[in-house]
Amino acid sequence: MTLAGLMLLVCLAVFLVMQFDEVAADREQKMVQNGFARQLREIDEVIHPQVAWDESVKALDINRDLRWADMNLGSYLFTFNGFTRAFVVDASGNAFYASVRGERASTDAFAPFASVTAKLLPQIRAVEAVRPPVRVTPNADAAQVAPIQMNALAWADDTLFIVVATLVQPDVGKVQPTGKRAPVVIMAMPLDARMIRTFGGRYLVDDLHLYPADIAVSQYTKVDLHGADGVLVGRLAWTPRRPGLMLLRQLWIPALAAIAAMAMIAMIVVRSGATIFSELIASEARARHLAFHDPLTKLPNRSMLFARLGPVLAGIGTLSQRVAILAVDLDRFKEVNDTLGHHAGDALIQAVAGRLRDVCADEALIARLGGDEFVVMLENANDAAVTVLAERIVSAVRAPLKTEYGLLEVGCSVGATVIDNAGVEPSEALRWADLAMYRSKELGRCRVTFFEAEMDMALRNRRSLETDLREALHSDALGMVYQPQVDHHGGIVAVEALVRWVHPERGAVPPSTFVPLAEECGLILALGEQVLRKVFAETGHWTKARIAINVSAVQLRAPGFAALVTRLAAQAGIVPSQYEIELTETALLGEDPVTAANIDALKRLGFSIALDDFGTGYSSLSVLQRFSVDKIKIDRSFVAALGGEDESEALVDAMIKLARALDLEVIAEGVENARQKECLEACGCREFQGHLVGMPMTGPAIAGLIGEALLKPADMEAIRRQA
Ligand code: C2E
Ligand code: MG
Ligand code: MG
Repeated sequence: MTLAGLMLLVCLAVFLVMQFDEVAADREQKMVQNGFARQLREIDEVIHPQVAWDESVKALDINRDLRWADMNLGSYLFTFNGFTRAFVVDASGNAFYASVRGERASTDAFAPFASVTAKLLPQIRAVEAVRPPVRVTPNADAAQVAPIQMNALAWADDTLFIVVATLVQPDVGKVQPTGKRAPVVIMAMPLDARMIRTFGGRYLVDDLHLYPADIAVSQYTKVDLHGADGVLVGRLAWTPRRPGLMLLRQLWIPALAAIAAMAMIAMIVVRSGATIFSELIASEARARHLAFHDPLTKLPNRSMLFARLGPVLAGIGTLSQRVAILAVDLDRFKEVNDTLGHHAGDALIQAVAGRLRDVCADEALIARLGGDEFVVMLENANDAAVTVLAERIVSAVRAPLKTEYGLLEVGCSVGATVIDNAGVEPSEALRWADLAMYRSKELGRCRVTFFEAEMDMALRNRRSLETDLREALHSDALGMVYQPQVDHHGGIVAVEALVRWVHPERGAVPPSTFVPLAEECGLILALGEQVLRKVFAETGHWTKARIAINVSAVQLRAPGFAALVTRLAAQAGIVPSQYEIELTETALLGEDPVTAANIDALKRLGFSIALDDFGTGYSSLSVLQRFSVDKIKIDRSFVAALGGEDESEALVDAMIKLARALDLEVIAEGVENARQKECLEACGCREFQGHLVGMPMTGPAIAGLIGEALLKPADMEAIRRQA
């Protein structure tokens, strides 16, 4: 590019120089041509006063005074003006006077000039014939008549002469010509080297030379010289000055340097322009990539998914037959994030993204929608292929992952939907996959569920359940049951308060359904408050057994929770040390300062803290110590597995040993049979909860069982007095 530009510039410069020189040569030629014509006129003018003069009429026409001719023509014009030949011809054109180089000569000397004279004379005679008579103007100093003169170039004696023929005529008219035809003076001046040099010097033309007509002078600038009959008699030629070339010669080094500098600058500009341009393109591409990709995993993001999903769904039946959408959601990702920090969470997400890439076919679109939600879109796959893919995703994600934060184990729940009819909106398709994924979570996680129409029903069902729960809370329709916790002698040492909701149409709705629902739809604080009120009211006067109350992580994160418990406790007049707050491990994860403050306040009030479902979460020793947990409740999943062939016994044993080391109380929940109880006892467990040792029962029932008064002593006193 740059080289081509440079070449173009040089060509342009050469072209301009040539043009410039051509114009200059043209001007020079015109100047010399005009100059030569002027030279001839000047020569004419030198002769005119000598010939158009009363004296010359008298001397040449009347007296034929040759001595006069010697003095005033031959000698005078030779000496002062360089005319080497002078002749006077009569009316017939015959020379009667001749002079060569200022000296009188034989009229034979006229012979070489006879022919040119013969060509000039008719023109002279023609003008003479129509000339008006010269009026007498005696007081005039100089000739008043117009010259009758002709000149021509002619070769004579190998020399080119300027030959001038001038008619003898009076100037002031004192002497009048004799006849009709006056003599004519023929003067000839050689166009010799000296004259040409002088002429050239006058017009600043070096090396001006005269060349005969037959010599070629193509390399020079030239002016053609013609004879009287228009025939070429010679050429004045010279080397053209070529000012452009001279300029170029003088300037070529600086010009070349300037061109090189310009080329360099141009190159830099072009290069930097190109760099800026490519950077612009790159940054635009980057911006576009960022807009459509998740920065952490580099996977397509929600925008990209929707952009692709729209046309793909619309093209079903024409471009493709079916589209499978898989919603993939990690199980317990939040726990990893909360316990090990965001960097570990990020590392996990990146690793999962990598595994999804490994498992999915190249044509599948894998998108990260945010958090731990991924979506895989696959075109034209049948149900069997989708199932295989989904299961491979589940097992790939489940494989333990070695990271700098230790060995991480998470699973994922997958929801799949296969759409084979056009017209489904992307958001609707994703909602179906999501519903199926939630069903996977409900069914125990780490599994694949295909969307079915009834799931949509389930969602609607859930919405109506939410409305009903709101109503139930409003109308105080929830009740409490209490499940005994016994020591190894079988004595009831405590009870766990469990909430119950008997729906007017659906019947008993399990807390595992409506408690998470209340957490999700913001009803858990109201529900929790009702539970506390009821439990305090029903058990506030108990003295023999402690009462455990389940508190959700959402409640603990509420800033006013400890204050609420304090107020309710004060209103009910309960003794906090009789009560135990059951938290799940998820409540203690992370660094939430509100949770910590609430727990701290509850502990200071006298409540003790039990960690529910222990072993299912990610709590570490530091968590147990940080929150001053008093008790752990071994989750019933470990208890259920006892007596089997797996490692559950070793696990339970380890948990109990850990609790002892940390000086914590231990209780096993979900004890359903004697075998389990024996195993637990063998491991050193001393407290049990489960269907084997006591079913949940109403307040009055359990109060009767443990010998607690059904009512507060004050109320009983009031009743007695009434009686
Ligand atoms: P949880 O706190 O672990 O409560 C123990 C659950 O195990 C109770 O289920 C109880 O009925 C059940 N259970 C007890 N013994 C056995 C047994 O031997 N075998 C089996 N299979 N199950 C047994 P429930 O009442 O359905 O409650 C489920 C969960 O709902 C509770 O688990 C607790 O997390 C939550 N929940 C119950 N009541 C409340 C409440 O008042 N507030 C809050 N926030 N959560 C509650
Ligand atoms: Mg519990
Ligand atoms: Mg539990």
